[in-house]
Amino acid sequence: MNSKRNILIVGGGTAGWLAAAYLAKFFDIGEQQQLNITLLESADIGIIGVGEGTFPTIRNTLKFLGIDEAKFMRQTSATFKQGIRFADWVKTPQNGQHEHYFHPFEAPFYTEGAGLLPYWLLQDEATRLPFAQAVTFQKRVAEAQRAPKRPHEGDFTGPLNYAYHFDSVKLAHVLAERAKALGVRHLSGTLKGVELDKTGAIDRILTHEHGALTADLYIDCTGFRAELIGKALAAPFHSVRQYLFTNRAITCKIPYDRPDSPIESYTVSTAHEAGWTWDIGLDGMRGIGYVYSSDHTTDAHAEATLRRYIGPKSYELQTRVIPFEPGYRTTQWVKNCVAVGLSGGFMEPLESTGVVMIEVAISMIAELFPHNGPIDAPAARFNELMVKRYDNIINFLKLHYALSQREEPFWRDNTEPASVPERLSELLEQWRYRPPNRFDFLLDLESFAFFNYQYILYGMGFKTDLSGGRSNFPNAAEAERVFARIISFGERATKDLPSHRALIRQIYDQG
Ligand code: FAD
Repeated sequence: MNSKRNILIVGGGTAGWLAAAYLAKFFDIGEQQQLNITLLESADIGIIGVGEGTFPTIRNTLKFLGIDEAKFMRQTSATFKQGIRFADWVKTPQNGQHEHYFHPFEAPFYTEGAGLLPYWLLQDEATRLPFAQAVTFQKRVAEAQRAPKRPHEGDFTGPLNYAYHFDSVKLAHVLAERAKALGVRHLSGTLKGVELDKTGAIDRILTHEHGALTADLYIDCTGFRAELIGKALAAPFHSVRQYLFTNRAITCKIPYDRPDSPIESYTVSTAHEAGWTWDIGLDGMRGIGYVYSSDHTTDAHAEATLRRYIGPKSYELQTRVIPFEPGYRTTQWVKNCVAVGLSGGFMEPLESTGVVMIEVAISMIAELFPHNGPIDAPAARFNELMVKRYDNIINFLKLHYALSQREEPFWRDNTEPASVPERLSELLEQWRYRPPNRFDFLLDLESFAFFNYQYILYGMGFKTDLSGGRSNFPNAAEAERVFARIISFGERATKDLPSHRALIRQIYDQG
């Protein structure tokens, strides 16, 4: 019996090409031809073309695919990303000013036992450093416009954790090139119809260009159109708008003032009346977008907010509005079809979870893939794990909003108890008397670790009262020495590491 299976991926955005390249590499299809992988992509329907911010997991993915880091950066106009600066998200009750905080990718430094956090919490609030600055030197390095690594450090490694900002249209091209080199067959054509068999599974898909196409497994990467999982198979969509209010984005690209303008190695996320803007420095231009809730502002107001943020130059710029519904499909794998990317779900751009969820889905498809027997054997497990992960991401994203003291209706509504998921409310209650730790989260179901929660929580000014347990933390003197060491590492690193702009120039000039 010939057990060679066929996978047909429909859609050629980040999801489609990343799935194609990853599965081709994982199954080594070029060498052993255990599987056939075909990707159908419409020349008439474009890709969404947003999603410039990533998470450090992307480095392992690109490395696994055998991609050269410097070449990849040149081909996608990429820069380094060391975290996110949240401007104006915090409003201090003391002076009513809006303030910023930083979410670095680098985990906090640790002493033995409970780590540094309890000692930071027990320090004098009026004089202590911001949490992210006290426990790592990445904030200092990034804010000094330094790179996370030196030129001679190898591909995908460096002394500080990092991800990238890149042009997502160019990323799809790089991934397509790699996938094809790894043995993926590419068909240009548009899906016009789907025929189901008597069990309700996909029997074949219809195209004008290539007639009917069949496969053992269909991967729906058609973006928000969700041609297979949504339109053909009617997998229910679960909106999470009761927790996450934003549902529109207005975006644009702007050139730098001067060719040598500094490039930030972090995303700047600035809070506004009814949402927040992202501001991402790529090579040659900045990508900017305002993400907002249509229940709290109008498109015209949102556009005015975006233009005000950009300043006088904004009046020459073309903008684009992208509507979305935050949520996910409760069944992402249905019979012989599995959704990857926007067709499966999307929360909102905060913390760049779009590509992360694509990485999660494709690695699970690869590991759970049945080489014989029913193709839908992994469906129940896949769906359970994906839904839990989405729900956990909702908690993490909501944390950013739920603690804000800003006064506009969007922000007040975000703190209404009914808008906070139950699990997050429970955790916030517990965190009043002890900080988040690894036992709060099950690693395989999470995209964010306990320290990511700590950065947001204490960046937003949350109070954990440890005063009753002061005597349980007797190593204050040692902790103070570590805090001092982090400051001096930071001083050295800002001298030793090159400027972000200079490193980018060097990488680009090598090509
Ligand atoms: P798309 O890019 O839309 O691709 C769909 C593909 O399907 C296209 O190739 C199209 O031609 C094809 N197709 C559609 N219909 C048919 C058909 N009938 N026949 C054949 N082909 C068809 N993610 C992040 O990680 N970081 C971010 O900072 C981030 N920011 C975002 C901001 C916004 C406003 C939005 C909406 C999303 C953002 N995302 C972000 C998510 C990210 O953009 C997506 O996860 C990623 O681009 C994957 O998209 P996709 O491949 O699923 O869909």
